[in-house]
Amino acid sequence: MTLTPDAPAPPTAVVLEATGLTKHFPVRRSLRDIFKRTHEAVHAVDDVHLTLRRGQVVALVGESGSGKSTVARLLAQLYPRTDGDIQLHGESSRVKGGRQFRAYAKKVQMIFQDPFASLNPVHTIRYHLTRALKIHGNAGGNAQELEQALTELLNRVSLTPPERYLDKFPHELSGGQRQRVAIARALGANPEALLADEPVSMLDVSIRLGVLNLLRDLKERLNLAILYITHDIASARYFADETLVMYAGRMVEGGDSETVTQNPAHPYTRLLIDSAPDPDRIANMTADTADRGDGEPPSLIHPPTGCRFHPRCPVAMPRCSTDLPVRLEINDKPGHWAACWLYDTEPEAAK
Ligand code: SF4
Repeated sequence: MTLTPDAPAPPTAVVLEATGLTKHFPVRRSLRDIFKRTHEAVHAVDDVHLTLRRGQVVALVGESGSGKSTVARLLAQLYPRTDGDIQLHGESSRVKGGRQFRAYAKKVQMIFQDPFASLNPVHTIRYHLTRALKIHGNAGGNAQELEQALTELLNRVSLTPPERYLDKFPHELSGGQRQRVAIARALGANPEALLADEPVSMLDVSIRLGVLNLLRDLKERLNLAILYITHDIASARYFADETLVMYAGRMVEGGDSETVTQNPAHPYTRLLIDSAPDPDRIANMTADTADRGDGEPPSLIHPPTGCRFHPRCPVAMPRCSTDLPVRLEINDKPGHWAACWLYDTEPEAAK
C-alpha cells in the first residue's frame, strides 16, 4: 500500500460539499404528551453550507452544543440528514450502510475526540491497523506486504520505530500516541477527506501542537481535505485556511482564517475571541465589557426567532428578534461574510 492520492487532482479540487445540511432530532414524548399533535425536535443543525477542498483545512468553530460534531457525523454519514445534500466529487450521496457506506468511508474518514474510547482496549495496535487496511483493500497480497503497509502507516504518523508500537495495547500508549494511532487507522483507508472532531481537545496542552503539525504535514503530503472541528478559535487561525463559526446550529460567519480571527465581524465571533484568556485584556476590562454577551446558549427545541444570538447580543436591534439574518458580505476581504443585520446596507424602504 502506498499512501498517496489515487489519481493526480488539482490541489484545490472539491472533494466534499454540503448544501443546506439540516438535522433535527425528534424528542421522545412523555406519556402526558402522547396525544399532542405537534412533534418536538432538537434543531441541532440548520441550513449549513461548507466545501472541503484537497490540500485545505476548514475549521468549524463554536461552543459546546453548537452543532459542530453533528455536522461532522452528518458528513461522515453516521446520521441520516433531515434535509439538504452532501456531494462527494459533485455527486449527491446518501448511504445507509453495507457496501455503499464502505465505499463512502474509503474516501471520507473520521477522527474522534477521545482516542481512548475510539480504540478497542482488548486489541493491539497491529489488530486495529490491519483491520482498517483489510476492510479498505489496502493490506496487500501477502503477509510481507501487510507488514510493509503497517510499517508505513506508523511511520506516516511518526510512531517510530514501528515495531515498538505494533504489538502494544492502547493503554500502554500516551494520549498523543493513541491519537496518532487513530489517525493512522483513518489513513489505512487511503482517504481524500478527514473529518477531525476536536482531535486535540482531550490531549495535554504540551502535545497538542505535535498532533496539529502532524495533520498539517499529512494535508500537504497527501493533499488531503480536512475539516477541523474545535472550540479553540486561536488554533483555527494557526491551522486552518478557512474558518466557519457556528452558533446554536447555524453558521454565523465565514472567511479566510486570518480575517475571521483578526477582524471578526459577527458579535458572537468577537465574543468567542474575547473569551480566550488574555491577561492584558482582563486587566483592562471594565464591568461593562466583562459582561458582554453574557448568558447561556439557547434551547434548540425552541430556538429564538430571528437571529438565534439575539438574546445574548450586546448590539441587538428590534428586527433581530423577528428576521432571520442572511449571509452578508463584509467587503474587507473576498469571501468574508457574516449572518448579521449590522452589515445590511440596503435601506429598509427598499425591501
Ligand atoms: Fe446581534 Fe442582530 Fe447581528 Fe444577531 S443579527 S448578531 S442579534 S446584531
